Amino acid sequence: MNTVLENMTDGVHEDGIRRAGRVLRNGGLVAFPTETVYGLGADALDQDAARKIYQAKGRPSDNPLIVHIADWETIEKITEDLPAWAKLLSDAFWPGPLTMVLKKSAAVPFATTGGLSTVAVRMPDNAVALALIRAGGGYIAAPSANTSGRPSPTTAGHVAEDMDGVIDMIIDGGPVLIGLESTIVDLTEEIPVILRPGYISREMLQEVVGPVRLDRGLISEDPSVHPKAPGMKYRHYAPQAPLFIVEGSENRVREKINALTAAEHERGGLAGVIATDESLDFYEHAAVKSIGSRDEELSIAQHLYAILREFDLMKVSVIYSESFETPRMGAAIMNRLMKAAGHQVIHV
Ligand code: AMP
Ligand code: MG
Repeated sequence: MNTVLENMTDGVHEDGIRRAGRVLRNGGLVAFPTETVYGLGADALDQDAARKIYQAKGRPSDNPLIVHIADWETIEKITEDLPAWAKLLSDAFWPGPLTMVLKKSAAVPFATTGGLSTVAVRMPDNAVALALIRAGGGYIAAPSANTSGRPSPTTAGHVAEDMDGVIDMIIDGGPVLIGLESTIVDLTEEIPVILRPGYISREMLQEVVGPVRLDRGLISEDPSVHPKAPGMKYRHYAPQAPLFIVEGSENRVREKINALTAAEHERGGLAGVIATDESLDFYEHAAVKSIGSRDEELSIAQHLYAILREFDLMKVSVIYSESFETPRMGAAIMNRLMKAAGHQVIHV
């Protein structure tokens, strides 16, 4: 298949949006920018179109898709028993990086929800995405536009690495703003439950809806406690080389990583190091990349997946990462990094 590239790095182009909307309404696949990561869109109410997403990504069919909408009123058609929390959270955070899990209506096929009777809904904060959703019929299922298991794409170039020749169209809207997937909050329980941490923190949610808890599957060390969001149980976001997170005081982390990279060098391998602007110059015998400054957690979030992809291209033999306990997005950043590392942590 020839994948058409539409350039919208300078904003929405109406003619390109019309073409993309037509592809979606005919059951095709269009990758597009959002503020979190690039999404792989299909008509969420067309089960054959939704199935194509699973095929293109190689995604397990029990891992449900998030339905993207552009206008609050349109939520009625795809949900039932909408709780009052939904409107409160929409007023506070939509358009934005928050996904709500709600009871689904009959209009949403089980192919879209991975067989669940709930549906995940989000309104992205990106002008190209909102225009595309409206042009494509109003309900666009869109997981991250990567091959299943690879790091999520934060540029159109990343999307092309995985999807060129496989999907109908890629819209280039430039690099994304946030770089981590949305916070997912389940509103079908007694109190709201965070199923996936993201830019919108637990504290921000609690200011709007009162008590919010974290899904036990996210925090439990017990492997028999499964996360409620099916996607969170897969090893995800993973680079090709084994990744280890080194945790401890700043100095000891730096010393330990240098000892490990020297050992790798002696074995004839090349280690990649995920450092920060502050620690970049400290490391030796390794391919060292800064993920950003410790004072700017958004820059750490923005660069995480791109760095993992760069190390894939460089074919490093192992990756060592500092740990990033930043104040607001730290939980989300460390959740993705831990999953990329398959929970391999070296304590020093
Ligand atoms: P992605 O689109 O790649 O960000 O993945 C979507 C995430 O949302 C996955 O972790 C899914 O398991 C989760 N998800 C989607 N729909 C639901 C739902 N109805 N209930 C729980 N989790 C969901
Ligand atoms: Mg994904």
